[in-house]
Amino acid sequence: MRDTFEVRAFDAGGRIGELRVPRAGVTVETPALLPVINPHIRTIPPADLEREFGAEILITNGYSLHGSDDLREAALSRGLHDLYDFSGAIMTDSGSFQLAEYGDIDVDTREILEFQRDVGSDIGTPVDVPTPPDADRDRAEADLATTRERLAVAEEVDVGEMLVNAPVQGSTYPDLRERAAREAYATDLDVFPVGAVVPLLNAYRYDDTVDVVAAAKRGLGADAPVHLFGAGHPMMFALAVAMGCDLFDSAAYALYARDDRYLTVRGTEHLEDLAYFPCSCPVCADYDPGEVAACDDETRERLLARHNLRVTFEEMARVKQAVRRGNLLELVDARARGHPAMVDGYRTLLDHAQDLERSDPVGKDAFFAVSAESARRPEVLRHQERLERLDVAGEVLLSEGQKNDAYDATWRLVPPFGPFPRALSETYPLTAEVPERRSRAACEAAADGVAALAGANPDAAFTVAHWEWPASALARLPDGVTVRALGGGNDRAADADGS
Ligand SMILES: [Zn+2]
Repeated sequence: MRDTFEVRAFDAGGRIGELRVPRAGVTVETPALLPVINPHIRTIPPADLEREFGAEILITNGYSLHGSDDLREAALSRGLHDLYDFSGAIMTDSGSFQLAEYGDIDVDTREILEFQRDVGSDIGTPVDVPTPPDADRDRAEADLATTRERLAVAEEVDVGEMLVNAPVQGSTYPDLRERAAREAYATDLDVFPVGAVVPLLNAYRYDDTVDVVAAAKRGLGADAPVHLFGAGHPMMFALAVAMGCDLFDSAAYALYARDDRYLTVRGTEHLEDLAYFPCSCPVCADYDPGEVAACDDETRERLLARHNLRVTFEEMARVKQAVRRGNLLELVDARARGHPAMVDGYRTLLDHAQDLERSDPVGKDAFFAVSAESARRPEVLRHQERLERLDVAGEVLLSEGQKNDAYDATWRLVPPFGPFPRALSETYPLTAEVPERRSRAACEAAADGVAALAGANPDAAFTVAHWEWPASALARLPDGVTVRALGGGNDRAADADGS
């Protein structure tokens, strides 16, 4: 049992947690955003990140510091917290990214971890080997073997109170990711970055990203803090948190600003395409797009970086609030509409509904069925699994309309959940708000619920009374179920009354 991380609340796979960082003497609430500080270019000073933006933790490149003639000695003599004027937690990277980019670096794990310890890092990183997506399987396995050796070295190094990252690699092979995660979790290391996903994110491969993270999560215990390394675009925070990621680093706020790109929760805009700023942060309140465009390069970059960071922290707060409130999947659904590739990511997340169901709370405030995808949420899955265990006998009416005393029992029938006894009407998720114009997917899911109940009770005789279900849903009902179409004002009124 790890004592550095404690989960306080769940929603789907997402969680609110507390990461204790002993060397910094702070506890960071997760999900947390770590702004990336380039030791040489401080677009926004770390002290401002703490005071103005509320950053509790940041990340900087230990390898760049190690290789820097002007900063190395200062970092060693003064320590990173003094150098950066930052009192929160500081995570350092090891040069693995440079290894992936340039193919070679000149430090080993022991040396770079000792250096990170000596400059006062609170969370250090060994030199793992990032394997890009779609690599040969042989290469992915060989890289993993090297990473495993480096994690073993990292366990041996005397790091004092510094926490240590145990990166999870494995390219786009789910079984390798899961195995790597299992092995990392078996070490005594502390934080678990899922590495080498940046090429996936840059290519908008959110579906593959979800599969990679889901595989890593299967190999990690629930007490493992997970860092989605290199994921800093606010558009995908809700999705990534719903998968169970806890830490995010953003270089994007500064890198995009340098390119005149303006972040929003629905995607990225080019400054030149904006006639208005859809934001009321201090920058967007004081300037219009034309005024920012007219600024000199340095001012423009600084202004855009401040907006980008503001919208990034704001989205993280919104995601955390959604986890607390239990409506994270509604937020994922809303964010998915920003880009078709995000819809693919959301649908892939729902492929893993079985995994999400394990941590999803049994009771929440409300379930809003806002899209066809809602029919595949973990709550629907859980209800349908429950139907396989419910007993009912005799002549049973499953109805979207009114109760009928001619039957031995009348159960309600509500897409996308399917049938349930009236006594459960006030329990989550059957209190759901569903649209009157049900999607085909919702009716099909409800038909699957009928099939689950009928399968568990072969001796009962079922009649389904439905309100204009499509043929594709009716075709999913098992043989032997009697089907009756509802119609006319009386049925509708009884339906709306819901009792
Ligand atoms: Zn703004």
